[in-house]
Amino acid sequence: MLETMYEHNGVGLAGPQVGIAKRIFVALETKKDEAPADDRPPPVTTEEKRERWGVINEHVIINPIISNIEGQAYDIEGCLSIPGLYVEDVERHFSLTLAYQDTKGAKKTLKTKGHFARVIQHETDHLDGVLFLDRLNPEDKRLFMNEHRKDLAEMQREAKAFLKDLQNQIQPPKIS
Ligand SMILES: [Zn+2]
Repeated sequence: MLETMYEHNGVGLAGPQVGIAKRIFVALETKKDEAPADDRPPPVTTEEKRERWGVINEHVIINPIISNIEGQAYDIEGCLSIPGLYVEDVERHFSLTLAYQDTKGAKKTLKTKGHFARVIQHETDHLDGVLFLDRLNPEDKRLFMNEHRKDLAEMQREAKAFLKDLQNQIQPPKIS
């Protein structure tokens, strides 16, 4: 999952986005909150991305539970499930506590705020079938859907074709 995430320039990726029906996501904790603007060409390798994005930690989060939410924050958000489309000023809680299990099943807790808290909320939403578009107020969501109707329809067609392909692959051969 981490490789897929880096490959598509994501800072988080949830199981359901890649056909894993489990409450798991990967997420990067970065120094993005203080990252300066950058004129260099975009990074290519995972190693370059780690360095450029200021990755502090690569988290694998299982069975997340968010609590102690505080404050509001507004920032731009995109999603690997609808690549290339972004919304400014998506509202999220500013800080939170996250209880989860690591890959060995050990129970952990972390407290965080700012960008990483946003990533955690976005990815936890995926586990509940919620997209960041669903977090917009109805009017903003309607505007967004209207503006990107063609792109979204195209993505839906591709997703359906992908699933059909997957189904064909797992179907047992016909006995005639
Ligand atoms: Zn997403």
